[in-house]
Amino acid sequence: MDTPVKSTPSGTPPEVAEQALYEVRKKIYPRAVHGKFAAWRWAFVLLTQLVFYGTPWLVWNDRQAVLFDLVSRKFYIFGLVFWPQDIVYLTVLLIICAYSLFLFTAVAGRLWCGFACPQTVYTEIFMWIERLVEGDRLARMKLDQKPMSGHKLGLKAAKHGLWIALALWTGFTFVGYFTPIHVLWNEVMTLHTGPWETFWVLFYAFATYGNAGWMREQVCKYMCPYARFQSVMFDPDTLIITYDPERGEPRGSRAKSVDYKAKGLGDCVDCGICVQVCPTGIDIRKGLQYECIGCAACIDGCNQVMDKMGYPKGLIRYSTEKAMQGHYSTERILKRIFRPRVLVYTAILWLIIIAAAMTLYARVPLKVDVIRDRGNVMHGSDDPEVQNVYRLQIMNTQEIPRDVRIAVDGAEGIKLEIEPQPIRVAPTSSRVVAVRVEAPRASLKPGSNRIHFTIEAADPAHPGAAPLTVVEKAALVIP
Ligand code: SF4
Ligand code: SF4
Repeated sequence: MDTPVKSTPSGTPPEVAEQALYEVRKKIYPRAVHGKFAAWRWAFVLLTQLVFYGTPWLVWNDRQAVLFDLVSRKFYIFGLVFWPQDIVYLTVLLIICAYSLFLFTAVAGRLWCGFACPQTVYTEIFMWIERLVEGDRLARMKLDQKPMSGHKLGLKAAKHGLWIALALWTGFTFVGYFTPIHVLWNEVMTLHTGPWETFWVLFYAFATYGNAGWMREQVCKYMCPYARFQSVMFDPDTLIITYDPERGEPRGSRAKSVDYKAKGLGDCVDCGICVQVCPTGIDIRKGLQYECIGCAACIDGCNQVMDKMGYPKGLIRYSTEKAMQGHYSTERILKRIFRPRVLVYTAILWLIIIAAAMTLYARVPLKVDVIRDRGNVMHGSDDPEVQNVYRLQIMNTQEIPRDVRIAVDGAEGIKLEIEPQPIRVAPTSSRVVAVRVEAPRASLKPGSNRIHFTIEAADPAHPGAAPLTVVEKAALVIP
């Protein structure tokens, strides 16, 4: 700031203190880049968006294939229906995601950030729209410097219109994972969305528009916690995007035909393309910086320059700290990927995945909760029979009806009083059944006696099929 300001009593001008706290954002105009890694990034953009936008429209068993129905507290994922009791699977999924992140980061740094993170993916799409409407880097810079005109207003309106349309569609799709998307579509078309649906569509759209359209690298630099602790997961064998100073320096411009080695120059022609294509606006030649999201755009940009100059590619490349110092060959770098730390992460990850898959495979789609009615323990202390009343909540997590039969054992002469069996439990629903258990006092010990309820659930459409069986423990109490 040029305006002179008064000093504070301590002698520090207030603006100086202000500037130290808040860095003024310089707008970044990333240049379009083509190459191997740009193709990979676009492949991930297409794949992730195909999954995100397409999944809610898939149908399975006459219902939405993937639906997180918060109102009825059931999560439908293709053939599986998860209930609140299945929260353990969500925990396992989060552990798997965390371990995958550790593993990929240990192997190749910020792979997730550079290729698959939603912030990267949406920024890439928003930048593509921006280029489509306003042109590449130079055209955009010129446009921004021009005073407002009808042409400029038209371009800006078109860009923001497309951004807002995409953001709204993203918000709509997001809510479509929680409200049946066909219903939501009809509600949107007739302007009859509920308050919560309206809020979340607009909120998610606003977040997408703000993060990918306006804030972009600011989110990665200042908001994302992963950028802050990623260095903890790096080691000297982690693949990172690196500029080779031994090869590149001293940098300097030159004509293609010049014998630059005779002039004492390195391979870097100091064209600045690596900085111009960088979405966070940093210069990778200054070394690894926390702002680097590992998108590899600078590799593609520099390789194009190397091609034009007729130099070997790879002045900026994936390498490791040790490889740069020790001049490792590619084979040696690749061998170091399989170091103990990576092998341990991989082994743990596979163990968790296999255990989770086996548990999921062996999961019985019938759950039973037994609650003893404490107000109905017995008739009287002199009665020869002891009676306890229980409430059995039977949850049928499959999308077929089940005919349930309940039996009890655990004491000689034990009997069950229950409504006529079998009891029909509708698909993906639960039913509470009250039962009375009676046992001769003489066959019980004082206090609490362990008994078992056996619940068998048959498929009425396939009477010959083996029923599902669940055994639940309970206590028969004598005061
Ligand atoms: S320095 Fe290279 S890899 Fe890092 S963010 Fe910039 S362009 Fe991407
Ligand atoms: S793109 Fe390559 S040649 Fe150009 S400045 Fe960057 S490192 Fe040097």
